Amino acid sequence: KKRIAVMTSGGDSPGMNGSVRAVVRMAIDQGCEAYCVYEGYEGLVQGGDLIRQAQWEDVRGWLSEGGTLIGTARCKAFTERPGRLKAAKNMIDKGINALVICGGDGSLTGADKFRGEWPSLLEELVKNGDISTEQQKTFQYLNIVGLVGSIDNDFADTDATIGCYSSLGRICEAVDYIDATAFSHQRAFVIEVMGRHCGWLALMAGVSTGADFIFIPESPPDRDWEDQMCDIISKHRNLGKRKTIVIVAEGAHDLDLTRISPNKVKDLLSTRLKLDTRITTLGHVQRGGNACAYDRQLSTLQGVEAVNAVLEATPETPSKFIAIIENKIVRNPLIEAVKSTQEVAEAIKAKDFKRALDLRGPEFAE
Ligand code: ADP
Repeated sequence: KKRIAVMTSGGDSPGMNGSVRAVVRMAIDQGCEAYCVYEGYEGLVQGGDLIRQAQWEDVRGWLSEGGTLIGTARCKAFTERPGRLKAAKNMIDKGINALVICGGDGSLTGADKFRGEWPSLLEELVKNGDISTEQQKTFQYLNIVGLVGSIDNDFADTDATIGCYSSLGRICEAVDYIDATAFSHQRAFVIEVMGRHCGWLALMAGVSTGADFIFIPESPPDRDWEDQMCDIISKHRNLGKRKTIVIVAEGAHDLDLTRISPNKVKDLLSTRLKLDTRITTLGHVQRGGNACAYDRQLSTLQGVEAVNAVLEATPETPSKFIAIIENKIVRNPLIEAVKSTQEVAEAIKAKDFKRALDLRGPEFAE
């Protein structure tokens, strides 16, 4: 009987619980045993009670819940071989030979590395007398499948990550609240949103709320951005608009490339345009709360497909992750996608913004 474990790792996102529920239930439905690894890779390294079998009813009601109910962590031990050796031993002790990981590019890179190293880890465990040669034979291959859980929608080769639409919805809701008060006092608001290196949340929030101006890391403003922004906002005000909304992606100033900061934008709007301007940093409300309908659906369909991928994998198949492309759930090669994802971050760092925009895809081009 196959034993499939599921874990969540890296930053949490709404919809992660839906994917755990789907993996657990699909595994059971397919005649396998399901396990949950608690606290991300920390649980895999520590083992014991942090790796537990899950039954059908254990994940009841998880579809709508935000965050991740099995916990997540950043785990230093797993980035080093001794940590991964312990993780391999713990998995074999529990009889687990397949792992579905819902996380970001870091977590999925770690998973692929673990899989590549697996035969040599087993070799070492046999040498140390931790497992028998029989166990080595039974657990010869590690099967891993990735699910991309992230609010940032920063992963290549998939149109959406689990959580990004819940977060976008939360941002739009917050901007609507701010809109009402901004309108009343004819104020301007500079709103900082999350996204790490990726401007997707800021871009889509800008489109969805009709913001006056946005700043994203993939397309930093020209040298004369101050004039450009002020011209556009003055024009909007002259047309009778009573409020001003500027959205700044955290990555647009964290990277320190664009010399943009919410404070700088605020000062400009106050001094040059004489607008009563406030800054609102949305922060962790963007991560919290229930998963939206789209994320419930995406996490369910992808969780089911992850189990299918586990059951159909051969030792030769390269590691896969489950994507959604033009509304179809598909399996894509993991390492290529991780590389493309890292390439965007590198392009931004190298100030090759044309390449960054090309790599991000069509919605950024427009
Ligand atoms: P995310 O998955 O959201 O990108 P991180 O980059 O923090 O988040 O990764 C989560 C965890 O995955 C790390 O704390 C570490 O345990 C593991 N991990 C990340 N990168 C690697 C790597 N290159 N090798 C092994 N493990 C890694």
